[in-house]
Amino acid sequence: MGAYEAVIGLEVHVQLATDSKLFCSCPTKFGQPPNTNVCEVCAGMPGALPSPNRRAIRYAATVGLAVNCAINRRSRFDRKNYFYPDLPAGYQISQFELPICEHGWLDVEADGATRRIGITRIHMENDAGKNIHAPAENASYVDLNRAGTPLVEIVSEPDMRSAAEAVAYLRALHGIVTYLGVSDGNMEEGSFRCDANVSIRPRGQAELGTRTELKNLNSFRNVQRAIEFEIARQEDILEDGGAVVQETRLYDAVKNVTLAMRGKEEAQDYRYFPDPDLLPVVISEEELAAWTAALPELPRERARRFMDMTGLPAADVEALVQNRGLADFFETAAAEAEPRKVAALILGPLLRECHARELPLSPDKCPDVWKMTPKALGTLARVIDEGLISAKIAGDIFGDLFTSGAMPDVYVREKGLGQISDAGALEAAVDGVIAANPAEVESYRGGKTKLMSFFVGQVMRATRGKANPALVNELLARKLA
Ligand code: ADP
Ligand code: MG
Ligand code: ZN
Repeated sequence: MGAYEAVIGLEVHVQLATDSKLFCSCPTKFGQPPNTNVCEVCAGMPGALPSPNRRAIRYAATVGLAVNCAINRRSRFDRKNYFYPDLPAGYQISQFELPICEHGWLDVEADGATRRIGITRIHMENDAGKNIHAPAENASYVDLNRAGTPLVEIVSEPDMRSAAEAVAYLRALHGIVTYLGVSDGNMEEGSFRCDANVSIRPRGQAELGTRTELKNLNSFRNVQRAIEFEIARQEDILEDGGAVVQETRLYDAVKNVTLAMRGKEEAQDYRYFPDPDLLPVVISEEELAAWTAALPELPRERARRFMDMTGLPAADVEALVQNRGLADFFETAAAEAEPRKVAALILGPLLRECHARELPLSPDKCPDVWKMTPKALGTLARVIDEGLISAKIAGDIFGDLFTSGAMPDVYVREKGLGQISDAGALEAAVDGVIAANPAEVESYRGGKTKLMSFFVGQVMRATRGKANPALVNELLARKLA
């Protein structure tokens, strides 16, 4: 244990999966030609009147409910004033004094323990546009397609003590927003972004140290590495008798370092004030009750249920529930065969297929490649269990079943891959192997019983892997005795 303790708080921006923007009806669709999804509201024209998107408000409150927040039945939009070319209005519409959700928490598992991480607040805000720099043309452009996209910012308490804990918290949040269906959670496209605030303090000191804020963390791995780097950097500074400067730092994933970007601004620099164009956000008691009742089962509860179903350890179950599409797939497949055996096929060959083909872990996200249905996977588990095919053959044909969508029982019958469990049919193969290997037969009978595996292997070869191994052993033992 080192002399210093790390303290981490995360600010997570989640893009809400509404069809239209937060204050206008422009579409939120990603990857459109520049400035094609823009109107006078999201372009920040003076005098244009914003009108809030009710679904975005529902989504924001739903996130709060899922992370144990108190939902403010009355919240307010404020202007956060700053200049940036991708923010033509000169202010962002956000929530400052009265956010929609406050005082939540999330339990996360990290470093072998469960930790409760406090959530200070969740507020709604609109996204800015995007600056595009083209050095070759000596020009910069602004694309406002993203301007006005609804976001929630989820601000944690400084409750995390290691990079692993921060990543566990972030993964848990990611699981929750994608299970709720309020965000696609795509980190590469920026739908789920995280800033990490990091400080260190001498162990045992109650007062917090000076923090830096890390930006540009666009994967879980980068969050982990950036925080680890930053903790080490701050330790070096304090050990040399220096002081950490409060600032925003940018993570460079290629060099794995953080670099100073700008001094940290304070809340008063933004001159927040209530947006006079917008009424307070009011949520009725009936709405709140309906939204609460509609909450789906969340990853943690689902993991617990899958553990009971399969008896598998937490890490395996974690892999099953990480993606809602995959978890649904497992659950449907598990109706066809023994859940533990179905899980084994998913955690083994199915995930291997997905990783090798770089597919998302959900069949509805890649229907052109992933054609295997849950019923087919369940059936595969069942035909292996019933001895119709061997596990080895199941592995050999898995890729084919995955991309063709064929039903395993039909496929096996048509290709003649069924395991030979008929003693009469196997006897011929066993007799053939015995006749072809007289020297080995003699050594075996002379006491070298280890040769049994050699004979089994020969019979398997002769039957191209289709022989039922238990039956082969039995026949060989009898005939060699
Ligand atoms: P902002 O960064 O917008 O000025 P806040 O003051 O609300 O906002 O803090 C943002 C985040 O920084 C929170 O997640 C909080 O937990 C975290 N934080 C605050 N102080 C520290 C600290 N000394 N060390 C680490 N994290 C901190
Ligand atoms: Mg911040
Ligand atoms: Zn618009």
